[in-house]
Formats: sequence, structure tokens, C-alpha cells
Amino acid sequence: MYRFAPSPTGDMHIGNLRAAIFNYICAKKDKCGFILRIEDTDVARNIEGKDDEIKEILTKFGISWDQFYRQSKNLKFHQEFANKLLIEKKAFCCFCTEEELEAKKELAKANGEAYRYDGTCERLSDMEVLECEKPFVVRMKKPNAAVGFSDAIKGELVFEPENIDSFVVMRVDKTPTYNFACAIDDMLEGVTFIIRGEDHVSNTPKQEWIRQSLGYTEKMGYAHLPIILNHEGKKMSKRENSSSVKWLLFSGYLPEAIANYLILLGNKTPCEIFTINDAIEWFDIKNISKSPAKFDIDKLSQINREHIRRASDERLAEVFGMDKKFANLIRFYTQEASLVVEISEKIAQIYGKKDIPDEFKESAEVLKKAILDMEIPVNFDEFKANLMQISGLKGKNFFMPLRVLLTNQTHGPELKELYTLIKDDIKEIVNV
Ligand code: GLU
Repeated sequence: MYRFAPSPTGDMHIGNLRAAIFNYICAKKDKCGFILRIEDTDVARNIEGKDDEIKEILTKFGISWDQFYRQSKNLKFHQEFANKLLIEKKAFCCFCTEEELEAKKELAKANGEAYRYDGTCERLSDMEVLECEKPFVVRMKKPNAAVGFSDAIKGELVFEPENIDSFVVMRVDKTPTYNFACAIDDMLEGVTFIIRGEDHVSNTPKQEWIRQSLGYTEKMGYAHLPIILNHEGKKMSKRENSSSVKWLLFSGYLPEAIANYLILLGNKTPCEIFTINDAIEWFDIKNISKSPAKFDIDKLSQINREHIRRASDERLAEVFGMDKKFANLIRFYTQEASLVVEISEKIAQIYGKKDIPDEFKESAEVLKKAILDMEIPVNFDEFKANLMQISGLKGKNFFMPLRVLLTNQTHGPELKELYTLIKDDIKEIVNV
């Protein structure tokens, strides 16, 4: 069982989408289930409507799930398991205030030491705990031996108890922390393999420790994905436009191209252009490189062109919001542009009102009249010869006004090639 577990706290980052795609591919490959779990237990950070947005984005990428739920639905289980850990003395109530903890952190910093919880409340007697009326959090007791796990990308990883520490599992308001809710849910849902970003590596021993403490013995597999770097080689921040899936889609990158690029990144693949469905045939998480991958928007643009070229007429009509008859014209313009918006603009210029420079106004008018009066041949050379003869224009004085009349541009692709794609509409094109 695989799962994708986004928090509804911001725009989907390409790193999250990459994890979603990989989990989905592996679930399909292993012919097992795939859960979409919205991790909404940090109420203060939740953003209204983000859960629907996540579903919409995944759907655009062709990613479907067998089960969907919001983590808050499992609150009663999180609370019950926290109780069980308290009763079994594997966890303890901690009454330390934020201020007290902050002061201890400052002190550790001043001494140049890493802060660790000092065990103050772990030493309280049952009576002291019962009689204390202060608000409290629940902390796991620190493990007494190292906790390890194996990672399909990073190999065997082992964490000493010091680095796991007595961490908080339930907040003062009796809601679970991320680590606790996640560990419990993965156990309850029978998740067997977790693919997520490497920023979660230090959380993994904590989640393993929670499940071990509850007596859960099923082995969990992991793959922590290396971070994605920007063109400067720095971690791609949430504030960078191109890290937002919504922004990429809005800018005219096709979901199939974004998915292709994210699967290709830091991977060994049998070819460069493919779909998620192709990748299900050969994808192996072990092929993902250990080192961080650099996000290259130019490479993504090139892949985008390829997907536009290969898309069916129906798909192009859907993506561009145009009639199917424009499919070849769309493909044709990939020689000049890579983004949906750019190509749409080129086509809109052809079919829209022309802004003819003064120097060509007169000859453009002659050509327009001639085109409206003539019979339109199949072949460009014939069209050109007829038009030259009728208009008496030639050379630059012929081609420039003709180009502007057809494309509203003074530069562009070969008119001969363009002609075959627009000849059926040519009277309409010159007459707007
Ligand atoms: N809600 C966490 C996140 O979005 C989930 C991480 C995980 O896959 O466990 O980062």
C-alpha cells in the first residue's frame, strides 16, 4: 500500500508532486492500493480549499486514488493510541511551558550545545502528574537503543536515541503532531512503502519508534527523494514561481510534460520523452540518484514542445481550448514556441485584427483584395504566382505585407509551410 500525504497549507510544490507521481507509479507497478490523505491536523496552518485544489491538480496529471480521507477523521485513534502509550509508560505528560523550554534552548545555544529535552517531566511521579492542573503535551520517551530503517535511495540509516529525543506527539489542545498522526495512520492503513522528500529523513526514526512502541512489527520500506535545486544550485524555495505546480500549469506547461520532467530528473530512464503510463512499465525507485537534482526550466520547455507535438488532436483541442482543426497549426508553432500561452497567442494573431505598419499598408490592401477575389489553390507556389501576377508586387514588397496580412508579424516561420495549414481559412484571415 502506498500513499501521498500532502498538507493543505500552501500551493503544491513540484517536490510534492514528484512524490505523488512516484507513489502512484509504484502502486500501479506493484498492483496495490494508493491512498490520498490530506494531513490537516495542524489547524492553524490549514488553508481553506487547498484540499480540493490538490485533488484537482492530481486529476489533471491523471493520478487517481483508491481511497481519500482527511487525517482529522482519525483524531479519536490518535488520542486513543496516545493514551495507550501513556498507560504503558512509553510516553509521558509534559507540563513545561513554552517559556521554560525556550530559556533552556537559549542556554544550550549559549553553551554551543544542541538542545535536547532534559527529562524534567519524565521524572514526575504518577501522583505529581495526577495533581498537576497545568496544560500539558504528551512526549514519547526517548528510545534506549538506536532506531534504523532502510531506504531504497540512501541505503541503511541509523539514528541514535540522542537524535530522536523525547519528542512531542500530542499538543496541548489534544491534537496530534505531524509525526504521531502520520505514524498512526500509516499503520492503520497498512501502508508498506513511503516515498517522500528527504526533508522528512529525521522524522522517519520518530515514526518508526512510535509504531515500535505500539508493538507494530510490519516492516515499512522508504525512499526519501533528494531535494530539487534551482538554477543557482540552492534549495528551491516555495516562493520561487517555478516551484509551484499551479504556476507551471498557468504558464502553459502541460501536465504530461511536467510529469515527464519530474520523472526524468536525477533518474535513469530508457528514453527521454514518455508518459506516466509508460513509466509504470520500467520505473524503479532505486534508480533515483542520491544527489540533489537541478531544476532546469529550459529542459522542461523542450519536453513541453515534444508533448505538444505528440499530443492527439483531441488533447490539443482540450488544452488549447480550440477546435480540433487547429491541431496541426499548434504543432507547427512548436518550432517557435514551447508554451501553450505563447502558441495560443501566435494563432490568435493569425485570426485576429492585423496591425499593418504604414510602409506596407498600401500593398497589403492590394493583396487582401486579390486574395478575397481569387480562387485559393492547394499549393503555395501556385498561390504565390497568381497573387504576384494579380498584384504586380514582388520581392520584399510582396512577402512582407503578405506575412503581416497572414500572421500580424514581420518575422516568423516559412510562409510556404504555414500556407498549407491556413489556406482553408485564408479569406477570413485577411479580412478581419
Ligand atoms: N504532510 C507531510 C508533507 O506534506 C507529509 C509527509 C509524508 O509523506 O509523510 O510534507
